[in-house]
This record gives sequence, structure tokens and C-alpha cells, in this order.
Amino acid sequence: MNLRNFENQINDTILMRGFDYYKSGNIISLEYENHEWVAEVEGSYDYTVTAKLTDSDDITNTYCNCPYDMGVYCKHQVAVFYALKKDNQRNKTEKKPDNTKFDEVINKLDKQTLIKIILDITNGNSRIKYERVEQLCLEGERSCTDRGFVHAFKEYRYNLYEKTMDIAKQTTLAIELLLIGKKNYYHKLKELCNEHEWQEILNNILNVLSEKDPGKIYLDIVLNENLKSRLMDYCNGNIYLIKTYYPKLLPEYSAEIGEMFVVQIFDSEKRASSRSGYRNVCDWIRHYKKVSGNVAADAIKKELLLRNARRPAFVDELNKL
Ligand SMILES: [Zn+2]
Repeated sequence: MNLRNFENQINDTILMRGFDYYKSGNIISLEYENHEWVAEVEGSYDYTVTAKLTDSDDITNTYCNCPYDMGVYCKHQVAVFYALKKDNQRNKTEKKPDNTKFDEVINKLDKQTLIKIILDITNGNSRIKYERVEQLCLEGERSCTDRGFVHAFKEYRYNLYEKTMDIAKQTTLAIELLLIGKKNYYHKLKELCNEHEWQEILNNILNVLSEKDPGKIYLDIVLNENLKSRLMDYCNGNIYLIKTYYPKLLPEYSAEIGEMFVVQIFDSEKRASSRSGYRNVCDWIRHYKKVSGNVAADAIKKELLLRNARRPAFVDELNKL
């Protein structure tokens, strides 16, 4: 598949949804790192899409971490394909897409001084007053309607504070950038703080994120910081995640997790009507066994065998346990 012809090979519904995502500015970052494109795509949750391109724009390898599994490609990937197709001047160097975006912003605003001053700064001209550039970035953030451009200005302003070593402004802005979903500011922010400051900032950020819709960035931070109680709460709100993360929550939460697994076993039993459904039930039982032990798992197995004696495929799967 190639960037020029992917539209012929993906079904129209997914294509339309992806195009809509792309047009609506749901791609909040697109960067070239370690020989592949990495994009953050925003929706009800944020997902990460990766794509590898050859020099002739063949898409050789692409992945999205969303749960969609009805087809080969999801709307997030399609949105990224459109963005890559649009960005035809791109050149495979680190951070190039951001620079391109930034040049576009400058031209769009059509302010001669802005162009001159910012280009001078980019070339490392230290005569320029940093305050003026800061002011112009803030102006750009206020006047741009495109969220991608606003984010680019904020990131540019962050670079400025790094150059001037203004720790206080770096900290404030890093928090802001992290809260709008720029997850690489998590590490930058952590480095700016001492342990005590970090604990306070971390807690505030997680509280703010969990008040709105805590997406992938919240989960990433919680995992990185190994915050078990927050992880447990998050899994309670997103039950499908418990299968992935319960080993991190043991032994502290084994009783609660055992109860969650029992609920999942009986829920999936109700929905199961084919061999793949029965396998799903058994999969939950296998995890349950790891958490609550053989005796508990065997009791459930017996109960299910009795209740489903007339479903030979189900009995067969249960007996594989
Ligand atoms: Zn996806």
C-alpha cells in the first residue's frame, strides 16, 4: 500500500471517519523518531499511531494501539495517512514536521517582524530580545484558531524558556503542555523539580486529568510512577484493561481483582454463543486462577460445567482448563 493509493484499499466508512479526524485537527502531534512516524490522535481517548514509509512512500508497517479490530486499518491510522500525504515536503529528519508547521504559522500570520525575529532566533542570533519573541509567541497562541498551530507556538515558547533557563516559566508551561496531551513534557517536567515539588505537581496534574476524561496520557503517567491505587481506579472504570495490568496490582489488590474476574467470567458466559465466546470465558478463568488460586477457579469451572452441560463446545473448552 502506498500514500498515493491507500484510499482505494480501505473501506469508505473508515476512510470518511479518518478524513474527518484529520480535517478536524484530531492529530495533536506527528513526529519522525527512530525511523518511523509517530502520531498522537485525539478522540474520546488518545491513541498512538506509528507508520513506517519507504522513500517512495510505501507504507510498510503501521500500528495503532486502539481496541478497534473490525478491519486491518482504523480511523486513527487513516487520519495519519492523510496527514502524511498532505505533508509532501517532509524530509526524514527529526522534528521536521514541527518546523514545517511553524513556518506555515509564520506565513499565515503574515507579520514581517514575526518572521524576521523568529528566524533570527532559530539561527541563534542572540542580539534579539527574548521578551519580544515570547510576546509574539503568546500573540500567536491567542490569534491562531488551529489547535495544532497553537500547540506549536507553545512548544516554541518552551524552547525559548529552555534557552533562557527560566525554570519557573518552563515548569508552568510544561504543566500546561502536559495537560493538553503532549506527553514528552512529563519527563522534562520531572527533571525540573525536586522530589517534594514533583509529588505535589504530579498529584495536581493527575487530579486535573482524572476530573475530565482521563485518557492514555493519564494511564501512561500512572504506570510510569507505579501508582497502584490510581491504576486500580482506572481499571475499575475501564474493565477491559484489568487483564493487561493486574500483575502490577498484585498482591495488594488480589481480593478486588478476583471479584472483578468473577464478574467478567459470568458476564462473558452470558454473552458466549460460539467457540470463540467460550474461549473468552475460559481465558478469564485462567487469569482468575492466577489471582485467586486453583481451588477458587475449579469451583467456578464446576459451576459452569453443570450449567452448560448441553453445550458440547463449551464443555470441551472448559475441560481444557
Ligand atoms: Zn486506532
